[in-house]
Amino acid sequence: MRIIVQKFGGSSVASPAQRQQVVKKIISAVQEGYSPVVVVSAMGRKGDPYATDTFIGLVKEITSDYPAREMDILMSCGEIISAAVMVATLRKMGYESCLLTGRDAGIITDKNFGDARIIKVLPQRIFELLQEKKIVVVTGFQGVTEDGDITTLGRGGSDTTACALGVALDAEVIDIYTDVEGIMTADPRIVEDAKLLDTVTYNEICQLAHQGAKVIHPRAVEIAMQKNIPVRVRSTFSDHPGTLVSNLGGGNELGTDIRNDRLVTGITQIPNITQIRILTREVSEPAGLELKIFKAMALAGISVDFINVTPEAVLFTVKEEQAEKAVQILQNMNFIPQVRHGCAKVSVVGAGMAGIPGVMAAIVEALTREGIQILQSSDSHTTIWCLVEREDMERAVRALHQQFKLGQ
Ligand code: ADP
Ligand code: MG
Repeated sequence: MRIIVQKFGGSSVASPAQRQQVVKKIISAVQEGYSPVVVVSAMGRKGDPYATDTFIGLVKEITSDYPAREMDILMSCGEIISAAVMVATLRKMGYESCLLTGRDAGIITDKNFGDARIIKVLPQRIFELLQEKKIVVVTGFQGVTEDGDITTLGRGGSDTTACALGVALDAEVIDIYTDVEGIMTADPRIVEDAKLLDTVTYNEICQLAHQGAKVIHPRAVEIAMQKNIPVRVRSTFSDHPGTLVSNLGGGNELGTDIRNDRLVTGITQIPNITQIRILTREVSEPAGLELKIFKAMALAGISVDFINVTPEAVLFTVKEEQAEKAVQILQNMNFIPQVRHGCAKVSVVGAGMAGIPGVMAAIVEALTREGIQILQSSDSHTTIWCLVEREDMERAVRALHQQFKLGQ
């Protein structure tokens, strides 16, 4: 059996016309001899009647204190509705298909409601249905705990569902269908001349996704990578082959490909970041200051990023939505945090930039030319990050994209 996993995001299943395009992709897979396992997200985005954010709004309007377990039950409804509509659409076209929820599909997770991790997949039922020549439609974004509670997998969770199923079923390929042609050198909503990447390594796309390229979730890529299952990111609305994500370094029947990761793969951005600074001289007992701060943040479940510790100050960033809580905690500890709201993180990502001199200089040159102030910066062997004002974010992304000639 040649199994293919086809995942369709919210923007691909929102309207009847879009769902017709989805069905076309499924039918072509059947005609090519594949047994398709279809994973769907909820229909549409915030404001649409059956979108997940709309459901969240229903209870948030009543109380801000709605429990996480119950929230996951509510949040899992969007995918169920979407899958039901997809099964109905397939049936109307004469294709036998059946609907499996996360539980039915054997997706077992931990108990971390709202952002659960898949711990194992029990794919027996899917195998049996495929053997019966049924098209299996699985609700994305959800699983079940060993105790039987429904969980959701966090933002981008349907990508994770698709990749976990791909690995568990040993699929030939995992297709992530979305509203763009594939993975690009930057978010096409910001950079007009962003270029489609025909192939990327798991490594490259993981870095891009971690730094904000939301076209695929990094956890999903990490799962597919475990078994080297090729992933294609492509458009529901065109016939373009899209981007192939695989381990280019590995050999296959066509020979061994020895291409390396490129110098710069792409530019990404994460908006809505707050920078917090605590000056050592304003603290009565500066010994172990950073330890006290980061322990307190960890205890409160606040994830910190962009950490710089110097003898003069401790500097870090948090997500905007966690800023108020972080500041409160620091003030309660008698610190005087200096807070800069409205920042954004812009990253130059390139798995091949390790050890190559001049990349930072090129970044500074591009941003300076645009009159954009770098508020903080940091690097790893694959990424250079700059913190900028939120209002400079789009301009910074465009300037960097141009500087590294990624549109050519
Ligand atoms: P879906 O609903 O299909 O899951 P998403 O909104 O999660 O779709 O992801 C697709 C979007 O990702 C695109 O519309 C695009 O704006 C955005 N995006 C951000 N960075 C990139 C990138 N580097 N390449 C392609 N798309 C990107
Ligand atoms: Mg998505």
